[in-house]
Order: sequence, then C-alpha cells, then structure tokens
Amino acid sequence: MVTRDVHTRRYILKTAIGGAAGIVLGNPARGLAAFAAQGAPGSPAIQQLSDDLFIVTLPGEANVLAHTTRGGVLLVDGASAAASEALMKAVTALPGGGPVHTLFNTHWHPEQTGSNEAIGKAGKTIIAQENTKLWLSTDVTWSWNQKRFKRLPKVAQPNKTFYTTGKLEPKERREGVPVDSVLQYGYIPDAAHTDGDLYVYFPQQNVLAVGDAVSGQGWPVVDWQTGGWIGGIVGGLQRLQTIANAETKIVPGRGPVLTLADLKKQATMYGTIYDRLSTMLNKGRGPTEAVEAKPTKEFDAEMGNGDEFVRRSFESLWAYLSPDA
Ligand SMILES: [Zn+2]
Repeated sequence: MVTRDVHTRRYILKTAIGGAAGIVLGNPARGLAAFAAQGAPGSPAIQQLSDDLFIVTLPGEANVLAHTTRGGVLLVDGASAAASEALMKAVTALPGGGPVHTLFNTHWHPEQTGSNEAIGKAGKTIIAQENTKLWLSTDVTWSWNQKRFKRLPKVAQPNKTFYTTGKLEPKERREGVPVDSVLQYGYIPDAAHTDGDLYVYFPQQNVLAVGDAVSGQGWPVVDWQTGGWIGGIVGGLQRLQTIANAETKIVPGRGPVLTLADLKKQATMYGTIYDRLSTMLNKGRGPTEAVEAKPTKEFDAEMGNGDEFVRRSFESLWAYLSPDA
C-alpha cells in the first residue's frame, strides 16, 4: 500500500476500495500490434515527424519520442527496462542520432522509466514533475490487483524536477533552428493518468508529446492509486487543446499520432462517461452497479469492452470526491 505524506489523506479510503475490487488489469495492447508492425519482428518501428523528431516504438513497448540535436538525443520517455538497451541502439542509429543527453519521464510507470538507470549512471539529465520523482522514490502497490512496483535506485531517479512549467535552452537545439523554437514542457495538473503527468511541446516542429495523459488506443488505465481520475482525463484533454492547434501532431503514450480533432472527440466521450458515473455516485451506487449500467456502451464498438475502465473510473471518483480523500 502506498504511504507517502502528501498522499496520506487518501490512504484509508484507497485501502477500503482496494478490498472491494478484484478484476485483474486488462491488456492495454489492443491496437498496438498494428502500429508497431511497420518494422520487422523484434525491430523498432520508426515514424519520422520532422527532420529531427522520430517516434521509436519497440514491439509491445510504449511510444518514445526522440529529438536528435547537435549535442546528442533528447527522449520523451524511455520504454521499459527490458527494452532499454534495444532503445538506445535504435536511437543511436537514427539519422542525426547519438547518445542520449536528456530524458523526460512523462509519468512514473515502468513502461516509461526503464531507461532511467542507464541514463542516470551516464550522468545525463532526467527531467520529471516533482510528484513523479516522489512516486519513483517509493514502493507502490496497486490496490485493485496487488501489482507491486519497486522504487528506483537513487541514480535512476529524476535529477531535474519542476512543479509547473519549464523550457530547455538553445544549446539543446540543432544548428540553424530559430531561437523561438526552444522546447517547452509543463505539468498537466488535472491528474489525467497520475498526479505527475507532463507534456513536452516542440513549437518549431509543432509536435506535442503527452504520455498516457491521452490514450491513443483503447480505454486508458485509470491509476487512481497515484492520483489519476476520470475527471482529470476530461480536464487534461481540455487543457491540452489550449496548447495544440489544428496542425499539431500529438504523440500519446501508446498508439498512433493524434490531432486536435481527436482530443475534442475524446473530451466529449470522456465528459459523457464522467457525467454518467457522477450521477450514479450521487445516487449512492457502487462500482459493480456502475459496470452493470454499461455507461460506455455506445463507445465500446470502437474502444473495446469498457468494464475495467468503468470500475477504475468509478473508484477514482470515490477516491477523488470523497471528503475524506
Ligand atoms: Zn502510464
């Protein structure tokens, strides 16, 4: 069970909810096979977004955004530990590629932070929102399936943290790129996926990396154990629409590149589900009744079975809205 000072208020409630929930986390890989199938078996799928930006996806792994610069490569997320070595090879082999100088953790999950140890040991920069560093510094157990996550060793923890926003200075950029292209990053405080979500925006290339704050394939994991909730999914989608424009390429944690229109469509869908679950919560219903009411039914044909998502979302409302939480 998670016990950390800033989250202690939710501790007792989460324990209670966790005891009631027994469904094993579903397989989120639906659809990834099609996306990753661009490469030969075992080799990474590479999607080029601009001269110096590439999505590198190893089989079964989350998306990694690689920015090739004169001083090496900047990564947004670093795949799982099992894939880290293959990722570093793939990144070195990119046009303009080389060793990694900076790694962003969009959030704490192992699918994103598996290269932290190698990059930390190499003395390079690992940037994360402060809450992500806190989660990576503690053991986490998900109440709903008892899945355990060990804290990372000190050397693998983010060594540059922020609370709200930041930017990287021109030394990170390629030659000949205008000064206004300084890379921007910021906190997504809505807690769409965890309470440490960040985005990274490349204005020159008009590419926005959002991690799992936006799901690019199927229903998302609602990790309320570390702060995520259904209202945050809606809030995050609305917030990110203020950064993106109609031409922005939006890179989610998994799945294909999205557009502003996709964010709008998702915000409407999750808003509808949020309203339905809130209504049920206010009538005193529980997670099992919420699942039985099929509040995602008109979306399931496109998104897949929503039961697991609904249960986690309802629990997240409970955790988030209860006066004790
Ligand atoms: Zn995640």
